Amino acid sequence: SDADAEDGTDPGELRTPIVAVLGHVDHGKTTLLDKIRGSAVTEGEAGAITQHIGATAVPLDVISDLSGRLVDPDDFDLPGLLFIDTPGHHSFSTLRSRGGALADIAILVVDVNDGFQPQTLEAIDILKRTQTPFVVAANKVDTVPGWNPQPDTPIQGSIEAQSDRAESDLNDRLYEIIGQMSDHGFSSDMYWRVQDFRNNIGVVPCSAMTGEGVPDLLAVMMGLSQRYMKEEMSIDTSGPGAGTVLEVKEEQGFGTTIDVVLYDGTVREDDHIVVGGMNEPIVTDVRALLQPRPLAEIRTESRFETVDEVVAAAGIKIAAPGLDDAMAGAPVRVVRDRGEASVIEAVEAELAQFEVETAEEGVVVKADTLGSLEAIADALADAEVPIVRAEVGDVAPRDIAVADTANESRHETILAFNVDVLPDAERRAEETGVSLFEDDVIYQLVEEYEEYVAEIERAQQENVLDKIQRPARFQVLQDHTFRQSNPAVVGVEVMSGTLKRNSKVVTWNGTEPERVGDLKSIQDEGEDVDELRAGERAAVSIDGPTVGRQIEEGDELWTELPEKHAKILEQELSDEIPADELEALGMYLDKHRKRDPFWGK
Ligand code: GDP
Repeated sequence: SDADAEDGTDPGELRTPIVAVLGHVDHGKTTLLDKIRGSAVTEGEAGAITQHIGATAVPLDVISDLSGRLVDPDDFDLPGLLFIDTPGHHSFSTLRSRGGALADIAILVVDVNDGFQPQTLEAIDILKRTQTPFVVAANKVDTVPGWNPQPDTPIQGSIEAQSDRAESDLNDRLYEIIGQMSDHGFSSDMYWRVQDFRNNIGVVPCSAMTGEGVPDLLAVMMGLSQRYMKEEMSIDTSGPGAGTVLEVKEEQGFGTTIDVVLYDGTVREDDHIVVGGMNEPIVTDVRALLQPRPLAEIRTESRFETVDEVVAAAGIKIAAPGLDDAMAGAPVRVVRDRGEASVIEAVEAELAQFEVETAEEGVVVKADTLGSLEAIADALADAEVPIVRAEVGDVAPRDIAVADTANESRHETILAFNVDVLPDAERRAEETGVSLFEDDVIYQLVEEYEEYVAEIERAQQENVLDKIQRPARFQVLQDHTFRQSNPAVVGVEVMSGTLKRNSKVVTWNGTEPERVGDLKSIQDEGEDVDELRAGERAAVSIDGPTVGRQIEEGDELWTELPEKHAKILEQELSDEIPADELEALGMYLDKHRKRDPFWGK
């Protein structure tokens, strides 16, 4: 601005917007990026497209060429678009820069046949949370029955070339997607009807396979950036670099390297940098800045060539000593004019935003980036699942060791998002019985775990129910005394509850239960049975009483409930036992509580 110019500071140049391509697996992210790269090559623009580490830069003139009449370079002053190209690695959608999304804008790829799928929803959630502007690429329009392909053309012309039937079939699918967008709180429409892309998401029908609609997609992304991003793209290109670690990788001849997306300033080969690490910020010196060697020049020694400096926005591999503890998603900062201490502080502050609250007892969480780790931690907090340890990285044997020390079996668990399980860890898990859950959709990972916990709870309750005395109220039937004593054998009917063998039998005549004997066996038509449910009749043998003395025909008898069992039944298992049993329990507790209001509490 003028003010900047007046005080002599650099007014700033415009950097390339960073574009993320998101969507459900197989909906066409890779094919779309390949199409953009490939078309540029066939247009003879290969030299102009630059392959970065983890990204592809498409300059404005190439975009203009590829878009046909849709982009006039004179209308734009942003230099082009930088596509992050790790599509298999969908969680780069969780990568952040200074709290916001790393990507400035995004393309959400949705297969017109499949509509919204789990990873689509997850991407939508993340776009919403990070307030990232995006468009929907309604991909695979060429699969509409009867489609007449119009390779690499703008989509409206292509639609005009279709039969009425194919066109209306396509429209049905597009409106389905627009409906799904609306279900998730986004108003959207065909991009050519959208006036304000901040309030209305543009839907671009396209085919990554045939290229139709791809010109539109490029034009819309370029327009969106130019219109709404210009201010954010204004940076001091010679300032100290700032970026986000995309991946931490071992590279032959270089040791551990970090792949970084640089979104601000410059990194030079002799720079001093601070990188977010597992335990503390890593302070180190750049040893080499590496870019992929152009295809034509590939030699056997190295796939990389070194460069002296890179300017944002760019993808770059940084080789430096001491990067072993670097984490995907962590900030990278160049130390230059500001002192080292203040840069370390800034990196620490940024890392602090990702801090996961841990407990003494809980599950182990491993994830591919700091952002995804935080997202899982949030989801687990909502589900009230405690976390004992949360880290970025593959599942290693020491993670199994930590999970194995949990007190509760539900916590002897590792939740792994988008990471590998090292073979040693897999074996350790099998040996120790630690459960491993792996998924690349966050909410599915959490759901799977919740189902597992519910399963454990069910099993535990069944186990407890088996070991616990159950309440039963039953009546000695008239004229059904088969034996007077030693043991007494009488016919009974259960009025409520479940009568089990080996129960103590009591009567309630006064304020306290009186024990009359032990119920030894239940016989139904000559067969021994384990239990008798409410409404059922059978002959029971009771050791202790004599019919006519301690018990009489017509008497109401009860099984004796130890106070502890009554308490567990009332407080923890009341959902698990049948209503009539609950009624027997209630009556039994009432009798006791007349004497002692706190009995069983
Ligand atoms: P990703 O997992 O999202 O990266 O999906 P891919 O790009 O790997 O695509 C998955 C499959 O869909 C591949 O077999 C592609 O060839 C196919 N595909 C992608 N885009 C299109 C398209 O526009 N039309 C058709 N017919 N197939 C497509």
